[in-house]
Amino acid sequence: MGALTSPRKVVVLGSTGSIGLSTLSLFEESGAPVEILALTAGGNVDRLVEQALRWRPQVAVIQDETKLEALSHALTGSSVRAAAGSAAIIEAAAMGADWVMSAIVGAAGLAPTVAAARTGAVIALANKESLVCAGPALLAIAKAAGGSVIPVDSEHSAIFQVLQPDCAHRVARLILTASGGPFRTWDKAAMLAATPEQAVAHPNWSMGAKISVDSATMMNKGLEMIEASYLFGTPEDRVDVVIHPQSVIHSLVEYVDGSTLAQLGPPDMRSPIACAFSWPDRLPWPAPRLDLAAYGQLTFETPDLDRFPSIGIAREALRLGGGAPTAMNAANEVAVAAFLDREIGFLDIAAAVAGTLERMNSLDGLSVAEGDAVDNAMMIDASARRIAAEVVTQKHRR
Ligand code: NAD
Ligand code: MG
Repeated sequence: MGALTSPRKVVVLGSTGSIGLSTLSLFEESGAPVEILALTAGGNVDRLVEQALRWRPQVAVIQDETKLEALSHALTGSSVRAAAGSAAIIEAAAMGADWVMSAIVGAAGLAPTVAAARTGAVIALANKESLVCAGPALLAIAKAAGGSVIPVDSEHSAIFQVLQPDCAHRVARLILTASGGPFRTWDKAAMLAATPEQAVAHPNWSMGAKISVDSATMMNKGLEMIEASYLFGTPEDRVDVVIHPQSVIHSLVEYVDGSTLAQLGPPDMRSPIACAFSWPDRLPWPAPRLDLAAYGQLTFETPDLDRFPSIGIAREALRLGGGAPTAMNAANEVAVAAFLDREIGFLDIAAAVAGTLERMNSLDGLSVAEGDAVDNAMMIDASARRIAAEVVTQKHRR
């Protein structure tokens, strides 16, 4: 198909992270014809330089402005322009690419993703937080610009692949699979003492620190329930979660006639990235293949909402609507950072998120004002971060 024979203009936001690396690895392994316009990173200047010298984008952008000098110096004599700061990342996102990988972590990815969506590009969306923060607005902007949002999160890629067009009203349930994370079998006493090192050691996937902690608390699945509801227009009571420790079935769609469709594959993010890159075509590349007999068994469990309250918190936020998912996501980012900095314990993360939502609700801070939906989401995000920081400090003092 045409899309895969002529070079596609590409921007990779968050190129130095886990998804960014998988994206460039896929380009390398598949030999897909791409012309990279921009690569952007948060603070890892060495890796950005290495990628820029390999892929020769027009511009390499580092968010941390104190590193611009180092970046410029290392790129002197190459054809690659160096730039720095959040505004430069937004500019890179809006360069007019055909395909933009949105793989910055956290709500920091929202503004660049929105900027890319306004250009009508195909957005390959890994950055689930931007969707949780301002999903309906982001999707509307992409649609109005004639672009599209294709999920990269493996569960949503699975649903996207098995959801038949124009069949949304015939869906009984979306069933998200969850590995259960590193503490799936731990009791509460052990979870109370869990360290950042233990929390980031995911059994099946190698990912950035923040999403690894989200997998350990299962807030990752909470964020994904909201992501699924927004992406596929499915109400909260038709989005379910099942634990599947092998991470082979990436998610399922149950139709009203009782037929259930699933998508399977080895746990390798290059597969959903390949799907988002070539959809509706399929990208040939030497992908790891699924050897079902080697697995022998695939198993399933019901999530334990007592040990993993984040799933219930996210469900409630989705039910509440308005600014609740936005505030929940922001509070979670603050709480996870505090846990990684050893300021609070593992079980304090979910407690801090719940505490922030309660306080925001009592202050009527979850209602969404009239006006620009993205601006409003960013305002709710900012006030939730302030309140979450107070809640976290109180937990720290105890
Ligand atoms: P990561 O921490 O490995 O990488 C994040 C990238 O964003 C890096 O390039 C970093 O430099 C950049 N960055 C960080 N803060 C920034 C800021 N303030 N401004 C600009 N750039 C910034 O994270 P990851 O694991 O690659 O995850 C990226 C996104 O993809 C997250 O939203 C995550 O939930 C989602 N995701 C990841 C996986 C996975 O397997 N890693 C799977 C599904 C979804
Ligand atoms: Mg996922």
